[in-house]
Amino acid sequence: MYQPIVRYHLDEHDDWVAELGCLHFQHVRHKPPWQDREWVTSVKGREGKVGRMLNCVKCVSRAPADHGEGVAANSLRLPAGLAAYKTTPLFDQHNAPGGLQKEHATASGVWALLHVLSGSLVYCFSVESKDVSYEIGAAQPRVIVAEQPHFIVVDRPVTFQLEFYR
Ligand SMILES: [Zn+2]
Repeated sequence: MYQPIVRYHLDEHDDWVAELGCLHFQHVRHKPPWQDREWVTSVKGREGKVGRMLNCVKCVSRAPADHGEGVAANSLRLPAGLAAYKTTPLFDQHNAPGGLQKEHATASGVWALLHVLSGSLVYCFSVESKDVSYEIGAAQPRVIVAEQPHFIVVDRPVTFQLEFYR
């Protein structure tokens, strides 16, 4: 199952670890000639691969998340090099489109930011066997990962807007 690289950290042996959108971690070592990943050795190289899809075997084996959920929610970022191309009107609890409240996903290569301007809503997605939900308030936009099935629950006063990137 392919998942996007969200960011990186170094492990205790100074090897680079990619943090994936599914909340799993995966080593991205540069150990020539066996593993040739020159890009991982530079900030520019690593930034350039944010958003790139890696095959996550932990998803296939339904391994538990490597990430604390709260950490993952706040650390998701848009891949470098995307540009905003569409913004929805402002929605509230009365006119939130039904399609957003049923499971759906963006098209390939399309990411989005969910901006809550007032109040809050609940953002839900599933990572293989695990359902995850976050309450999203106005503090920070939620990054919506390309092609990741999700839905929102609007059960309280809220105003929000979506901004699409590709
Ligand atoms: Zn995974």
